[in-house]
Amino acid sequence: MSRTAAWPGRLVLLGHPVGHSRSPAFQNAALEAAGIPLRYTALDVAPAELGQVLADLRAVRGAGNVTIPHKRAVYEACEVRLPRAEQAGAVNTFWHDEEGRLYGDNTDVAGFEAAVDSLGTTRPGAVVALLGAGGAAAGVCAAVATWAGATVGIFARSPERANELRQRFPHTRPASSAAAALSGASLVVNATPVGMTDDAHPVEVAWLPRDAHVMDLVYRDGETSWVRAARARGLRAIDGRAMLLSQGAEAFRCWFGRDPDLEVMRTALGHSTRSE
Ligand code: NAP
Repeated sequence: MSRTAAWPGRLVLLGHPVGHSRSPAFQNAALEAAGIPLRYTALDVAPAELGQVLADLRAVRGAGNVTIPHKRAVYEACEVRLPRAEQAGAVNTFWHDEEGRLYGDNTDVAGFEAAVDSLGTTRPGAVVALLGAGGAAAGVCAAVATWAGATVGIFARSPERANELRQRFPHTRPASSAAAALSGASLVVNATPVGMTDDAHPVEVAWLPRDAHVMDLVYRDGETSWVRAARARGLRAIDGRAMLLSQGAEAFRCWFGRDPDLEVMRTALGHSTRSE
């Protein structure tokens, strides 16, 4: 993997907002456990400020993660993009090499697959209903593209964004309604921010197919209301923490070329991988 030979000068999360993020907690625990003298800090960066912040980070060979709404903009800014980022069209992990070139990767793809495995979902032939069509949704499409015979039905409030994904990922199809996307689904994925700050549900739990597995990419204390409601209906369901942890561990490997202590990270996240 192409990564910096020396440690980055600064480690940050770029997002807007970033107050909800658990990444600083578990990345700092991993840094401490590894004896790396760096702190991972969350930076709330408005879109208009992103260019300047990236310039400042280049000056100190900064590295870090990217979250809503900057994944596409950082993808555009990268001089070198790893295949997973290229496939997803979004960057969630970045670093600089010794010449100051900005590298971008997408560890959400591997994180999503690890979470799918913890849910016990069969990948080949999966029928995925995907809610949302942003950066995280693109990561889901990129992952499912490698699963034999699997398809994705996308329901998004902005149909043009679902159509963009259709252009890039032939195994996807935009759905005209949530019901159309959910029909026959073996895995339902929420890739919208709905449920992040309140108990709103991205789709009615009563609409979920009886045998579907449910994955909410959103996470919050006590799990999301949607995941709790799906589980109460007897469905296997998991929130975004499993994916968050796995994508964070993969990002750590990008920055430092070594494995983090996963148990330390999981404890710091207050992680539970319960799926039923
Ligand atoms: P994004 O690029 O901004 O895309 C968000 C998508 O959700 C867009 O399709 C957007 O539609 C749609 N959306 C936004 N608000 C909505 C609403 N109120 N009702 C219906 N649809 C809505 O964001 P992202 O980076 O993909 O992230 C999406 C969510 O996944 C965030 O909550 C993020 O925290 C979470 N996530 C979690 C992990 C993890 O590791 N667990 C990783 C990545 C992302 P428009 O285009 O119309 O705005």
